[in-house]
Amino acid sequence: MDEPQSSTPLPPQPNEDDVLVGAETAHVCPVCQANLFDATIENRSVRYCAKCRGMLVLIFNFLPLVEYMRTVWSSTGASIQPRDNSDADRKLSCPLCAKIMIGYPYGGPGNVNLDSCERCSVIWLDRNELRRIVLAPDRTTLYSKR
Ligand SMILES: [Zn+2]
Ligand SMILES: [Zn+2]
Repeated sequence: MDEPQSSTPLPPQPNEDDVLVGAETAHVCPVCQANLFDATIENRSVRYCAKCRGMLVLIFNFLPLVEYMRTVWSSTGASIQPRDNSDADRKLSCPLCAKIMIGYPYGGPGNVNLDSCERCSVIWLDRNELRRIVLAPDRTTLYSKR
């Protein structure tokens, strides 16, 4: 990475998770301790870990984000990872306030237990947790399909 910066940088491109990664922050990933990056997904601000690809999402951005990812991933044929319970009783620290995050049961498709900090109104999403939620078959299709 010693090459001089181009005078006409390309516009930033979303990565394969459809995350537009911005500047590094001082906040630390609760899973792998790498620094989180400011990032956006469809103009919604998130904090993103470039190492484990988890992300910290504001609670009110969570459902719109799931809806958006569903439109992206269902068209690319991404597949659901096998369920991994190895993190069932881990304890994560909130990247923003360092308090222990608490379980946030998500009752929709995917049936996962997320980690949240109510104080900061954020949810931590592992990459495979987000995929499970987004790609879980929508129950309504069971009835609409014949
Ligand atoms: Zn990480
Ligand atoms: Zn917090």
